[in-house]
Amino acid sequence: MTAGPLPADGTIVVVGAGLAGGRTCAALRQAGHVGQIVLVGAEQHRPYDRPPLSKAVLADAAVDPDLGLELDDVELRLGVRATGLDLGEGAVHTSEGDLRYDALVIATGAEPMALPGDGPQVALRTKEDAALVRAALVPGAQIVLVGAGWIGAEVATAALAANCKVTCLEAGPAPLAGPLGPEVAQRFLPWWQGVDLRTGALVDRVEPDGVRLADGSLLNADLVVSGVGVRPNTGWLEGSGLAFAGGGIAVDCDGRTSDPRVFAVGDVAARHSPRLGEPVHSGHWDEAVNGAAAVALAVLGRPAGIDRVPYFWSDQFGRKVQYVGQHHREDAVVFREHDDPEKWGVAWVAADGRLTAHLNVGFPKAMVRARAALESGRVVDSSIIARLDADL
Ligand code: FAD
Repeated sequence: MTAGPLPADGTIVVVGAGLAGGRTCAALRQAGHVGQIVLVGAEQHRPYDRPPLSKAVLADAAVDPDLGLELDDVELRLGVRATGLDLGEGAVHTSEGDLRYDALVIATGAEPMALPGDGPQVALRTKEDAALVRAALVPGAQIVLVGAGWIGAEVATAALAANCKVTCLEAGPAPLAGPLGPEVAQRFLPWWQGVDLRTGALVDRVEPDGVRLADGSLLNADLVVSGVGVRPNTGWLEGSGLAFAGGGIAVDCDGRTSDPRVFAVGDVAARHSPRLGEPVHSGHWDEAVNGAAAVALAVLGRPAGIDRVPYFWSDQFGRKVQYVGQHHREDAVVFREHDDPEKWGVAWVAADGRLTAHLNVGFPKAMVRARAALESGRVVDSSIIARLDADL
């Protein structure tokens, strides 16, 4: 198959019926594509939103995370798994036969990493996982969380609200020490009041009765929730010839891969950011949503080339955390304070004085200002930004 512009009535196959895949299909129709669009999804559900799974859905069975997308003109193939890709033939192999495409969008997301051992564990990724966790959150139940990261903190919040006994095993020195660094992580420690948080705890395996630690002790559990990270769902692309970067599919700002007919978006993609000079750390809602809008235009031959500033949020222990940008270990950390101790922030500043990332708690205005500073590559004055309400 030779590369060329997508015919007006061309067939677009989108693999992965999650947030990025569903929104890509809706955006393709909105942008005027009249040809066939086929959406292939391994799950039995129409595209739904995952952030509520560790928040509202755990508290209330009536919360429906369906995205409510307009997909009437899209051929939905639910419960169908892509198993391989033949770039030369322009075909996706699936559990129900081959699908030919004129353009292909890969949006297969990420899958949680499991802990070793044959005992029961839930890694919160799907509606079914959330239903299992919710059912276990009854007063007095012993919940063991492995990993005090973003998901661990949100599940801990829900488990405390349900009057469970909550233990969290974290290998690092404090919650979120991995993504944010140990200095910033210390600020989160007081939030974990009510949780038996054990830092520096190494898990050996999950057993039928609970979690076996590396020191040989057993921690009994009614439910074990593992929140130890995810990896892009790329196994089915092995040997396809597509280029990868840092575990994800290498794409540019518009989701273009190393093959001119193939695009990737969302958690499965490693988007190169010219501003950062490196791939954006994927795994966040904003990247999937804005990436879907960008990729739809690129598929139709109208790439916008916008280098989006990465953003994500987390709701934990009654607080909203917002992070924008992408910092490096060597960046200087400037804590930002407010008269109200519940409001604070962190600015990461590079050696040349440019802001690289910003985190804020309880003060969304700071995020808006930080985003503007990041977009413009502004140099910030570290001596005056210690006040959270100061402009950047
Ligand atoms: P997904 O939503 O994972 O969708 C991928 C789909 O592809 C899945 O349905 C999968 O089954 C399907 N698939 C995989 N392999 C195949 C295959 N071979 N063939 C066919 N289909 C396949 N982000 C934030 O910024 N803030 C938050 O607060 C936040 N909270 C979250 C809470 C939870 C519990 C989870 C799980 C994620 C959260 N996120 C959050 C992250 C955000 O939800 C993801 O970044 C987003 O869902 C990524 O969308 P996606 O479409 O790329 O992947």
